[in-house]
Amino acid sequence: MIIVMEHDANLEQINHVIKKIEDFGYKSHVIKGVEQTVIGAIGDERDKMELKNYMESSPGVSNVIEILKPYKLASKELHKEKMVIDVNGVKIGGSQFVVMAGPCSVESSEQIVETARAVKEAGAQILRGGAYKPRTSPYAFQGMEEEGLQLLAEARDATGLPIVTEVMNPREADLVARYADILQIGARNVQNFSLLKEIGKIPKPIFLKRGMMTTIKEFLMSAEYIMSEGNKEVILCERGIRTFETATRNTLDISAIPVLKAETHLPVFVDPSHATGYWHLVETMAKASVAAGADGLMIEVHPRPAEAYSDGPQSLKPKKFKKLMDDLRPYIKLEGKHL
Ligand code: PEP
Ligand code: MN
Repeated sequence: MIIVMEHDANLEQINHVIKKIEDFGYKSHVIKGVEQTVIGAIGDERDKMELKNYMESSPGVSNVIEILKPYKLASKELHKEKMVIDVNGVKIGGSQFVVMAGPCSVESSEQIVETARAVKEAGAQILRGGAYKPRTSPYAFQGMEEEGLQLLAEARDATGLPIVTEVMNPREADLVARYADILQIGARNVQNFSLLKEIGKIPKPIFLKRGMMTTIKEFLMSAEYIMSEGNKEVILCERGIRTFETATRNTLDISAIPVLKAETHLPVFVDPSHATGYWHLVETMAKASVAAGADGLMIEVHPRPAEAYSDGPQSLKPKKFKKLMDDLRPYIKLEGKHL
């Protein structure tokens, strides 16, 4: 429910509304605009009529609007303006087009530092790399775990690039958060609700990937889980969904970008590497993503893809990544953004 305050509502009236929202068992979410203050009342809506009636007759309240979507904090109904998330000076969701690039897995100090230097040189603003890897086979490389996090921190020190890395388990959330600037929730964990609740308590931006079997509504409900715990800084990432098509690893749902943009104020990214599974398809899908209105991309880059511990076939060599970045610039400009 959205409680819109009068233009001249005073602090006492605003505080009274917040207190009452909480007395009714809801959480309040205050948005102070230039013109007026808007307060979201978020919670179990079974007895919403009582709250609505109370608020409609409260001093200082202009009007009360119900949020019709099942996602409330993630909905544009509550947040009209686009959200811009600042990660060590990199502004995600604004006029800057942000590229997160790096290897699928962190493999060694040399590998991650070499890749970090190369992607920075090409224009990427954030370094990606997995230390905890969600592999289909239990016998496949599972990631370097904490040592991998340390190597990511080393690459950050060497280049200044903020780092995004995946957290797979609520037990490791605090540990990963000690190293990472952005916490990634992978496609396989998009509906791991206990993990979502745990990381929702951590004050670091979350990079939430769409599951291969989640609808856009379910995806936004997962963002809502995180936001309902207090963490409002969620970046959404379309990374391909599972369809009958086998020519590509997944099917990139390009229309998810404008659909999400219409529904939410949160930044929307695309990962053309996992979406296609092949490095030679990354460029076209990256261009399509820019044209469809994405706020940024996540791309896998490896100095020697043939030797990569994971996802070599979809990883770009640094030289190809540099060319991709150069080729993307006019598309980004056409969208009124810059790298
Ligand atoms: C990844 O980004 O390393 C990854 C495993 O991606 P996804 O969760 O989208 O499969
Ligand atoms: Mn990967």
